[in-house]
Amino acid sequence: MSSGRVWTNEHPYRPKGVEIDALGHLSAYELVRDPVAFPEEGDQRVTLPMSKLEKIFQCPICLDVMNVCVATTACLHRFCKACLSNHLFRAKEKVCPTCRKPCPSMRSTRKDERFQGIIKAVFPG
Ligand SMILES: [Zn+2]
Ligand SMILES: [Zn+2]
Repeated sequence: MSSGRVWTNEHPYRPKGVEIDALGHLSAYELVRDPVAFPEEGDQRVTLPMSKLEKIFQCPICLDVMNVCVATTACLHRFCKACLSNHLFRAKEKVCPTCRKPCPSMRSTRKDERFQGIIKAVFPG
């Protein structure tokens, strides 16, 4: 029985497809060892210190947890809507405060409702 990659002549590095028979891809050890149980859902929990979590949701301008989150369309960096609009109003160069990609106005941003939803779930009230 054959298993493994089938190579095409057209492109030496691109496999045409992968053939796998039910057990042929297993090593001898894998064939005889006891089945391993999937980890229970509870085992997959991770604990993040609040300080780290806050950094993920932190607005780079006001350094607070983002309030009404918007993302720039060019680079997808996130800020509070008020902070970014304030920044773009005052700044001579209309660029993203994080990476300096052009961000001429709030029209180059989109409300990030999904991210805002996560923030609300993590930091209620
Ligand atoms: Zn802010
Ligand atoms: Zn950016």
